[in-house]
Amino acid sequence: MHSEPAPFAQRLIVWQKRHGRHDLPWQQSRDPYRIWLSEIMLQQTQVATVLPYYQRFLERYPDLSTLAAASLNDVLEAWSGLGYYARGRNLHQAAQQVMQEFSGRFPSDPATIAELPGIGRSTAAAIAVFAFGARAAILDGNVKRILCRHAGIEGFPGLPAIEKKLWALAESRLPRQKVEAYTQGLMDLGSGVCMRHRPVCTDCPLSADCIAFVEGRQNDLPSPKPRSKLPERTATFVLITDGRAVLLKRRPPKGLWGGLLVPPEGNPETILGELGFVSEGVHALPELKHRFTHFQLTLRPVVCPLTVRPAGPDHASWHWQELGTLEQAALPTPVRRILRGGLASKK
Ligand code: SF4
Repeated sequence: MHSEPAPFAQRLIVWQKRHGRHDLPWQQSRDPYRIWLSEIMLQQTQVATVLPYYQRFLERYPDLSTLAAASLNDVLEAWSGLGYYARGRNLHQAAQQVMQEFSGRFPSDPATIAELPGIGRSTAAAIAVFAFGARAAILDGNVKRILCRHAGIEGFPGLPAIEKKLWALAESRLPRQKVEAYTQGLMDLGSGVCMRHRPVCTDCPLSADCIAFVEGRQNDLPSPKPRSKLPERTATFVLITDGRAVLLKRRPPKGLWGGLLVPPEGNPETILGELGFVSEGVHALPELKHRFTHFQLTLRPVVCPLTVRPAGPDHASWHWQELGTLEQAALPTPVRRILRGGLASKK
């Protein structure tokens, strides 16, 4: 007979006690300054990298008032090597703010902590939990991943609607007691078991009712960032050829494909008429899509065969490119592809 799995939080707390981390230097303290410093350093950096920096920083700035009194330059120097210098700047500014606004006493209420520079809602909750034993939910990238997978939440977690849902879920799963072990458990699970790539579900205390695990969708959740829909443009490229060469035009040096050779673009009959050429016909080739950073281009190539190569056109920007030398020509990639597909066989 199957029994219901224990509540989410309870399983995580038991797991944390047995398998989680207990000997990190900031876990040995309830000093909000030390905990805050660790949380900021851990925001974009792995524990192993943070450890030596954390110790050195504390030797230099053992408490909040020393940090607040230091020059920004010295603080940034102590931060150097950790990257993301905005964190160091915000740390210094927040220390000064705590000295001025709270007489040097670090606030204990998560909402007040969240107003300090460089501290978001999740970091504020972590500080309040570890330093003051508050009951507050964290929701960093790791926790978002765990919740999306466990509850089978679809949609990119960076979207406001999904984030709102995740905050509500994170709060609803908070246990009444042992919030510290629970919060640390989420952090440990995210970094050591429910990793982005290849989560170790067989070691996970949440696997019994994890939707991603049960349905084998660990790679699909959380949903990736949607690719924004790019504006679309269409261009007809007219491949005028005598069977041995194709007529290309050099683009002006600035702008899209600056200085490169491309076939004339526009209505084939108009172009032929302007050049004074007579073609045997106009044959469409398969379309090709090309993605630029800011738009998507659909290239519609048409071939206009000529029986003989006429003299001209009489302008330096025009160029008859021998089909046998297409590979060496200065062509944009999609143009090279349409020429290869439509004409290279005729060389
Ligand atoms: S079972 Fe796997 S996917 Fe689900 S929470 Fe655990 S590690 Fe993550």
